[in-house]
Amino acid sequence: MAQEFNLEVIPVLPKALERLEEIANNLWYGWYVPARALFEQLDYELWIRVSHNPKLFLRNVDQARLEKAAKDPLFLNAYRQVTAAFDDYLADKAPREAGQKLEQNEQIAYFCAEYGFHESLPVYSGGLGILAGDHCKTASDLRLPFVGVGLFYHLGYFSQHIDTEGNQRVTSSTLNTEHLPITTVTDENGEEIRITVNIAGRTVWVKAWLVQVGHIKLYLLDTEIPQNAPEDAAITHQLYGGDNNTRIQQEIVLGIGGVRMLRHLGIAPTVWHMNEGHAAFLVLELLREKLHSGYEFHQAVEAVASGCVFTTHTPVPAGHDHFPQDLVMHFLGHFSHELGLSREDFLRLGCEPAGDNHDFNMTTLAINLSRHMNGVSRIHGRVSSEICQRFWPQLEPHENIMSYVTNGVHVSSFLARQWTDLFDKHLGADWDRHLCSGEYWDQIMNIPDQEFWQTHQAVKSRMLVVVRNALLSQHKANKTSETHIEQIVKNLDPNNPGILTIGFARRFATYKRATLLLNNMHRLREIVLNSERPIVFIFAGKAHPADEPGQSLLRALYQLSNEPDFIGKLIVVQGYDMGLSRRLVSGVDVWLNNPVYPLEASGTSGMKAAVNAAINLSVLDGWWDEGYEGDNGWGIRPSPHEHDHNRRDHDDANTLYDILQNEVLDEYYDLGKYGYSERWVHRAKRSMASTIPHFNMVRVLNDYLENFYIPASRHGQKMLINEGGNARQLSEWKGKIRNQWHGIHVRQTAEPATRITYDESTSIQVAVYLNGLDPNDVAVELLLSRKLYHPEIYAASPDNTVVCGTEVENAAPPTTAYRFKPEHGLDNGEYLFSLNFQPDWCGDLSYKIRVFPYSDLLSDAHEMGMMVWA
Ligand SMILES: *Cc1c(COP(=O)(O)O)cnc(C)c1O
Repeated sequence: MAQEFNLEVIPVLPKALERLEEIANNLWYGWYVPARALFEQLDYELWIRVSHNPKLFLRNVDQARLEKAAKDPLFLNAYRQVTAAFDDYLADKAPREAGQKLEQNEQIAYFCAEYGFHESLPVYSGGLGILAGDHCKTASDLRLPFVGVGLFYHLGYFSQHIDTEGNQRVTSSTLNTEHLPITTVTDENGEEIRITVNIAGRTVWVKAWLVQVGHIKLYLLDTEIPQNAPEDAAITHQLYGGDNNTRIQQEIVLGIGGVRMLRHLGIAPTVWHMNEGHAAFLVLELLREKLHSGYEFHQAVEAVASGCVFTTHTPVPAGHDHFPQDLVMHFLGHFSHELGLSREDFLRLGCEPAGDNHDFNMTTLAINLSRHMNGVSRIHGRVSSEICQRFWPQLEPHENIMSYVTNGVHVSSFLARQWTDLFDKHLGADWDRHLCSGEYWDQIMNIPDQEFWQTHQAVKSRMLVVVRNALLSQHKANKTSETHIEQIVKNLDPNNPGILTIGFARRFATYKRATLLLNNMHRLREIVLNSERPIVFIFAGKAHPADEPGQSLLRALYQLSNEPDFIGKLIVVQGYDMGLSRRLVSGVDVWLNNPVYPLEASGTSGMKAAVNAAINLSVLDGWWDEGYEGDNGWGIRPSPHEHDHNRRDHDDANTLYDILQNEVLDEYYDLGKYGYSERWVHRAKRSMASTIPHFNMVRVLNDYLENFYIPASRHGQKMLINEGGNARQLSEWKGKIRNQWHGIHVRQTAEPATRITYDESTSIQVAVYLNGLDPNDVAVELLLSRKLYHPEIYAASPDNTVVCGTEVENAAPPTTAYRFKPEHGLDNGEYLFSLNFQPDWCGDLSYKIRVFPYSDLLSDAHEMGMMVWA
């Protein structure tokens, strides 16, 4: 065997095309399709070969092609259009939407363990990362003062191959940083910038990679530096790889290293957003900073927490990251020492004294050190409020400070080019400035059906080409016979996109139930064997390498896809990534999602599908519970049998078969004289028109700005005034409240009126025993509600068949709150409060009276979680 020697020949960009390099270094190309189209036009085959990676493309393109393009007027025209759009995008720096309300000095730091921008930077695994990527892209679109922090994983996320038995084979290869849109962060002398973090008593060096995302900067931290011992260099090797030891060290680098890196770069955020608990160690470094500048511990806690925002993404408590106490002390013992905290005090930041699990929990840490927090859909917000109820034990879950922002998607990242062109034509080229206007998107309904349908068919054809090619190479590699391959792809004909095509692609986590469709094989056969109404299901998705049950779902699907009845009708395509995702969500007719309710925190792939006019057929969970409007898709009402898994799967599968047979297939094949179904086109238009204005990322960033970032920034800054004077006052006040609260009680002093007429007012007096607190330390409130709306009455009504959805709104009856006025002290040490009020409602009403601690230094009236009822 002859040895091979390496030689790289680097092409030289002709002067006329020199800015391609710049384009390849800004992830803006990830959401501006014409930029990517330039590379595609230069050499289509190479573009596929380099997996849509612009930098790798520029290292491998033939010089002759470049020279030819540099003289081709058509290409030069496209090139000039792209560079002009790029310059325009970067030149316009004025903040947009709610970003205009930020002051000059305000800035948001966003921390996340993974980011997905585009398949050319494979440091993401799934929904969380892609959401974080979309968040950054939108921060750029809105020109926000915003900086992102994450980790750079040298191994990237794994590639997936499916073998002939349906086993998932994973391969990982080290990323070549020269081929990625990232650059080393250096100081003014060109020296690599490094900071240190102490881990288990060792000094670990950390460098940063800069990712330019349009206007904004994202720093990816990396420990693979020669100064580091091999085990320290390996910390940032792999995304979600390794064991608890690796995991906690990665999180120390992300949280503590991240704050230090920003400080080193002279960046001074006023808001710190932890996107999921992985980043929660950042609060420790912020605490350390405050303690070192002379704050007392509880004062530092108030100062830090007021500016921190925490978003949770998991509806299962076990999904929250946690570490054994000894492990935490091993890696962070040195740090607790620097904070001047005893082992017990340090662990208390993340451990709960009560409960069975004594592990240090990242969610607990984040909740203890944030005053602003949210789940990612209405249902998930409610579930999170319940999971976290113990933090505010005297409150009803719906009143605690865990709220929600429903996720969205960055529309132009996932919208097929054909739709962009259609929007340009019918809505105007500035459609992306109207993303949140429902009325604006109603114009979709006026686009001629035929044109709308043709656009969908064109997008679908492109998807079929891509999926077909992917299957051909997948099966050639597996040495599948030619005839068998032909059978597999027979229904994926780009020239005949008329077969109803249903897509299901996501991580193969078991709660997503990739095999629910297989629950009743008799019914499934009935559906796929009807030759008059052909149907194809396309499945894709990776299972985590450690998730054996997830891999067995993949195997089951794959094996079925080779059976005679299912070949060509049930298709499994390997290697799900953002590139394949873009094709699938835009190209299928129906997007299927059938998770176990209520475990889909939000889900975003269905939004990507809907913005491309694909129609959702999904369990009413996560975002779809809010998005479903009856005529814009189909909703599977989850089975109420939550404790019996088999029964629930059986029920949900049957609902799915019923909808497929009686509605989806019927409507799709109700072909009119132009060869398509008008009812279908109407539903597809409604899918698009209803989803874009509510589930786009601009709406999401507006919500974060209005309800989280701006309040956190203002409150955080307020705490810092006068060297933390307010923070000190608040922490002392809270200390006093905690000491005295156990003794508080409240009672009515006189027999109140039980019946009045509408125009009368009534007066109520209560005596509160304050146990040494001041009358101004508490709020006394009357909560008035209408008895007819009480949940128990509501549930008893015979026609109430609602299982979920509206259930959320009815979780608490509508109430009105009235505040009592402090009057004077009474002889027995109580204090008298009075209220004179006139109800706006008629009929049977009921009221409750309560007392809770109140100070205008609090960021939320109920942040202390204390409440006493009369
Ligand atoms: C959008 C997306 C996801 C997340 O989809 P869910 O519906 O939230 O499961 C995962 N992976 C890829 C590649 C995606 O594009």
